[in-house]
Amino acid sequence: MNIQKRNQNYELAGKKLIQPEALLQRLVQIPSYSSVEEIQMLVVELMHNIGLEVQTCLSESVIGNGLTNVVGKLSGKLPDCSKSLMLVAHADTVPLEPLDRWQHEPLSGMIEDGRIYGRGVMDDKAGIVLMLAVAEALIREGVSLGGDLILVSAADDESSGDGFRKLFINGIKPDACLMLDGAKLHQIGYAHAGCLWYRMHVVGSTTACNNKAANAVEKTILILNKLFQMASSFNQRVQDPYTCFENPVRLNVCKIEGGEWLGNNAASCITEFSMNFIQPEKLETIRRSIAEVISACVQSDDWLINHPPTLEPVYMAFDPYESPLKSSFFKTIERAHVKVTGRVLEPRSITGWFHGAAFECPCFLYGPGNGGAAHGIDEYFELSSFETMIPAIVEITKQWCNSNDGVIC
Ligand SMILES: [Zn+2]
Repeated sequence: MNIQKRNQNYELAGKKLIQPEALLQRLVQIPSYSSVEEIQMLVVELMHNIGLEVQTCLSESVIGNGLTNVVGKLSGKLPDCSKSLMLVAHADTVPLEPLDRWQHEPLSGMIEDGRIYGRGVMDDKAGIVLMLAVAEALIREGVSLGGDLILVSAADDESSGDGFRKLFINGIKPDACLMLDGAKLHQIGYAHAGCLWYRMHVVGSTTACNNKAANAVEKTILILNKLFQMASSFNQRVQDPYTCFENPVRLNVCKIEGGEWLGNNAASCITEFSMNFIQPEKLETIRRSIAEVISACVQSDDWLINHPPTLEPVYMAFDPYESPLKSSFFKTIERAHVKVTGRVLEPRSITGWFHGAAFECPCFLYGPGNGGAAHGIDEYFELSSFETMIPAIVEITKQWCNSNDGVIC
């Protein structure tokens, strides 16, 4: 890790450095789907100027080696007997495509009727702005925290979650964590699905089209149909906290590249698919189930038995996660949220994910606020959400980082 010197010249009496609307617009205008370096260097500078201690840590991500994770710390005065809190957002986004279907140019940060548009604006650049604004507000108020407040701008959430894991391995181990990534106002995510990504390669015979040819695309469809059946059998026995969803277990066929020429039999077909699954299944049991389904297809097919498909795990693999609603951290969030907003929090499970298990501490999805179309066209964020979320997280931080569960220092 590279430790950078804390900026001692921060002028508390001056103008606020973090102007949420302007900063979010600036972040959206920096593309970060294939490289996060430019945006992370800006985050380093901003954390430094606010007055945080800043570290960077490289991770070996599937989207490119040596991606920079940024960690800012506001050190607590009594770290041994007070709780630390980590606020996490991620700098990477998914790609812009399909470009021709955007109504608002995806890197413009256009603002219209209180909404700002662009790729990554909700997922998760608003989260980066939010955590920086919270840290600056605490410093400007002169709040003295007992435990550390740690801010993370992670390099890779969308493709592997490697950024989070790398930080944990490097010794960043908070007592509690808020992922500022995808929760709407007055909602909090406490449970998420597991996920597994695969690439499958099926080969067929290399001939002209004829009735005896083994077609790789058709064999792929055969296997995928069985996998869809498997997913639907899991959906027959859904338990809480997922009974509120229709078909929470989902096989998502993301990409198929098959065949060579219209007059030929398809000799090759490569499919990428993901499987989102829920408790009580785990990575181990889902891997086994998928392997058994494919093996049954192979055993019952004259071509596949001699030409079995290859199945390669790619990028994403993690278990379902559930954070306890009885934890003292959740009670703190609930109390602070009601105090600041006057509204009750709605706990929700989600069929996506927020890498809740990455830091081995109670972790919830909270903020950045209202928005929509994450990963889709015309992704947007409602700027007024900052007015609620900044003071709410400031209050959570004050309450949690000054709690000690009865330890007397
Ligand atoms: Zn995200």
